[in-house]
Amino acid sequence: MSGFVVAIDGPAASGKGTLARRLAAALGLAYLDTGLLYRATARRLLDAGADPADENAAATAAVALLPEDLDRSDLRSPAVDRAASLVSAVPAVRAALLAFQRGFAAAHGAVLDGRDIGTVVFPDAPVKLFLTASLPTRAERRWRELAARGYHVSRAEVEADLAARDAADAARAIAPLQAAADAITLDTTTLDADAAFARALALVRSRMAARADRFA
Ligand code: C5P
Repeated sequence: MSGFVVAIDGPAASGKGTLARRLAAALGLAYLDTGLLYRATARRLLDAGADPADENAAATAAVALLPEDLDRSDLRSPAVDRAASLVSAVPAVRAALLAFQRGFAAAHGAVLDGRDIGTVVFPDAPVKLFLTASLPTRAERRWRELAARGYHVSRAEVEADLAARDAADAARAIAPLQAAADAITLDTTTLDADAAFARALALVRSRMAARADRFA
């Protein structure tokens, strides 16, 4: 169905990416992990030896982003986690990345995951999900992911980093991490990935059917 957008938001390691990827595959929609845009911007700054807190340098890096930057294999290190959180609070960075996100879904619809998809990027999306999970659950998941990629950090450090990143994402003045008023919350502490997927798919299908009826 053309132009159909599924917006998935939530804190780090809440299961957004896994759910978004599965939904996109099941629905035949494109998938965009919008965190990669902020990560790739941060990566450019770190590569250039610039300070990720330098707002002008961050804005320049966001404007210069190329699609192939998103394919880099070094976007998920702890250093990039922290730098991405810093650049994401810069209004000019967010403005530069907004058009790309909207353009990505314009023609054929898409599933997008991030922090502000349902509130800012696609406030009229017909399906909005907000994924959460307890901090220890999310920290355990992220620690396993990092260990599998060869990054050896302690669980306590991962948990402290996640808590700091979530707090910064939720407290920033522009596009803070928050559930849209009309989002459905799924808590993946108590819901496994298959159950979250089944619920989300049922919701999307019912919204698609309602939309088809309206336009019939
Ligand atoms: O989702 P992920 O953890 O890869 O995102 C990395 C960082 O990018 C987040 O901590 C957040 O600061 C930022 N981000 C954002 N808005 C989005 C997606 C990510 O601010 N839509």
